[in-house]
Amino acid sequence: MGQSGPDVIAEVAGWVRRAHAAVILTGAGISTESGIPDFRGPQGVWTRNPGAEAKADISYYLSDPAVRREAWQTRVEHPGRHAEPNAGHRAVAELERRGHVALLVTQNIDGLHLDAGSSPQRTVEIHGTMREVVCLACGDRGPMEETLERVRHGEADPACRICGGILKSATISFGQALVTADLFRAQRAAEAADLFMAVGTSLTVYPVADLPVRAVRNGARLVIVNAEPTPLDTHADAVLRGPIGEVLPALVAAL
Ligand code: NAD
Repeated sequence: MGQSGPDVIAEVAGWVRRAHAAVILTGAGISTESGIPDFRGPQGVWTRNPGAEAKADISYYLSDPAVRREAWQTRVEHPGRHAEPNAGHRAVAELERRGHVALLVTQNIDGLHLDAGSSPQRTVEIHGTMREVVCLACGDRGPMEETLERVRHGEADPACRICGGILKSATISFGQALVTADLFRAQRAAEAADLFMAVGTSLTVYPVADLPVRAVRNGARLVIVNAEPTPLDTHADAVLRGPIGEVLPALVAAL
């Protein structure tokens, strides 16, 4: 099933209503309408600057102070710090309020699902959060805003105040392992799901891209909401192509 006419939306709404264990996976595409660029969409950070993808590996951050200084400057200027949730985030929160979401797994680090009202208990931020910093040596965590104040006051590469180690946003970079408990929880929910919706993700970052595959293998219906094709479109029971900020509210309205 392709595209996102009213008939398809109505059919997907029926699946959502009847689901007992629906899992929603979101990616950067749900936040573009809040002004945060994705990585691989037409205006994506890496589409426009392919060299940046190679530099995203944690090894550069650890070994090169210049990379860290640039990263802190980028964090100070990041559009996500002032972004507001959009209609897509609000629709996901509404689906949960109406009892239709067993687990929300987001690859996003911007915290906008929580701002929109998705509950922390049913949300896994599987790539971490940009709202906190973590020391890569001792593991101490703290609010991002406090460390950004240090950067604004001239510390170009602020060190951990407890052990002097390297600080980084509490996000998972390439080359860093996911938090095992988060990954297991997402995998268990995907395997138990009767409906799996992948929203605004190119489904190319592993191991997260494997979650819909696990769901389908265990009999779940798969719905993909994305502006561009993904590698799993041929496995989907429905592919909804419109802008997320229109498709998800239409889905909620059709429940
Ligand atoms: P991606 O950039 O690989 O893919 C995003 C997809 O969303 C694209 O296929 C694009 O066509 C689609 N899209 C963009 N805007 C859309 C819209 N309004 N309506 C419908 N579709 C839309 O993103 P990904 O799969 O999440 O992987 C990127 C990685 O980068 C993730 O691991 C994530 O942690 C990180 N990231 C996060 C943010 C954020 O927190 N907001 C932003 C950029 C990257």
